[in-house]
Amino acid sequence: MSTINKTYSLKEGLALRCATPESREQTQLALLRSHLQQASRMPFYKERFRELGFNPEDIQSLADLAHLPLTSRRDLDGGYASFSNEQESPFADIALTSGTTGDPVVVPYTPFDLERLAYNEMMAFYGAGVRAGDRALLTVTLDRCFIAGLAYYSGLVKLGAAAIRSGAGQPARQWHLINTLQPQFLVGVPTFLLQLAQWGLANGMSPQQAGIIGIITIGEPTRHADLTLTPLGELLKESWGAPLFSSYGATELETAFCECSHRRGGHVHPELMVVEIVDDEGTLLPVGEPGEIVVTPLGVEGMPLVRFRTGDVARLDDTPCPCGWQTPRLGHIEGRLAQRLKYRGTTLYPEMIFHALQEIRSVQGAYVEVRSGYELADEVTVVVGGQVDEAQVSELLQAKLRVRPTIVIKSHHEVAATMVQSGGRKPQKFFDYR
Ligand SMILES: [Zn+2]
Repeated sequence: MSTINKTYSLKEGLALRCATPESREQTQLALLRSHLQQASRMPFYKERFRELGFNPEDIQSLADLAHLPLTSRRDLDGGYASFSNEQESPFADIALTSGTTGDPVVVPYTPFDLERLAYNEMMAFYGAGVRAGDRALLTVTLDRCFIAGLAYYSGLVKLGAAAIRSGAGQPARQWHLINTLQPQFLVGVPTFLLQLAQWGLANGMSPQQAGIIGIITIGEPTRHADLTLTPLGELLKESWGAPLFSSYGATELETAFCECSHRRGGHVHPELMVVEIVDDEGTLLPVGEPGEIVVTPLGVEGMPLVRFRTGDVARLDDTPCPCGWQTPRLGHIEGRLAQRLKYRGTTLYPEMIFHALQEIRSVQGAYVEVRSGYELADEVTVVVGGQVDEAQVSELLQAKLRVRPTIVIKSHHEVAATMVQSGGRKPQKFFDYR
């Protein structure tokens, strides 16, 4: 059986977040040892740890974790059987996520993992100002083997708040629920929530008078690396007259971050994760430097991963947060490592181009194509939809990002058709021909 099997109460969780770094590290160290013990029973880590001659009891400090190898998404392509032991910890929910080969990766959750996930989201919602008795409209799906919707739902219930499981799409129905059930919080994808506000305005509703006091966003970034809102974020905040709280997570991590009332990045949940930022070689980077997010979730039974490479780039911030929580915060996702572009001596991510394009209101969809160029540089083409002036796009990108990629203007319909042709869960915005 697992040696972990404990979730905290809200009160215990809050105390841990306000504890001194020394006492927090002691708590995390005990949890890390238990987690590594659990991982060492799984075929993949049993083999790895044996090769290294590593025993979880050898861990003397959190820094010792850096001596263990990283686990990549590619490792998971071998199948969940290597990472889990169903006889020992029977599954309660089986989630799916897209794998590197295109085959979905199975991520099993035990009853305890679901309880842990509910605790995670309870703390995240509490940090964003949600309290017992509040109501939140969930405009995300709870089915399709998607874990985030379920996590939000169970976190709200655990907190004593009410979840309104509205699901995705259908603005008329969403507005009916807003008007009749009067939620204080919205949870959803930024572009959809903006569309919802605009639909309301066009149909005689007033989003600013709807009583919404907070918006928890998922899936798309709403802030730049310096934490200022992107144009999409600004528009969303203004439309509803409510602050935005970004959340970030990955199915494999069984863990999610969410911002506190000061919105300076997602606080690390100390009893649920150890977060590291590494460079391309997997070497630890100092706090404040951008690099790949590596997470060791603590206390997972079903698929206990160790040093999992998320493929996402962000930086940690350990300066004091006015909310009083002493844990570092993870800044906004600056891009995906696999999409990094080397362009005329600078490094940029497609996400930065999309953020910049939000400044031009007439842009209706855009995607980025990249091909191999000379001298290890990438040739970048930005395809923009709508009645847009090419020179305006070029000047904007030069001013914001100091690059002048090739710009191609197409009709809104052509761009939209290209973005959905792969048939994935989300429209494709990045085409890599390198
Ligand atoms: Zn804070």
